[in-house]
Amino acid sequence: METTTRPNTTFEWRCFHCGTLLGIELHGRMHLKYKTAQYVVTGPVVAVCRRCDATNETVCVGGAASAATTNDA
Ligand SMILES: [Zn+2]
Repeated sequence: METTTRPNTTFEWRCFHCGTLLGIELHGRMHLKYKTAQYVVTGPVVAVCRRCDATNETVCVGGAASAATTNDA
């Protein structure tokens, strides 16, 4: 079965203080969404929670070098 979501490589990045979802890490890349804008980032990421203003830090690693089928224009 082919699925678009793979739990093994999906990680929900949530605010450590209030649990608000900050972003979703997919295959080593952090996907951030704010209204209609979407950001895909790797490496160290810092986000200020929109609900409680807590500063959250994470490091998004892995997958970047193994995205063989990805051809981003
Ligand atoms: Zn928060």
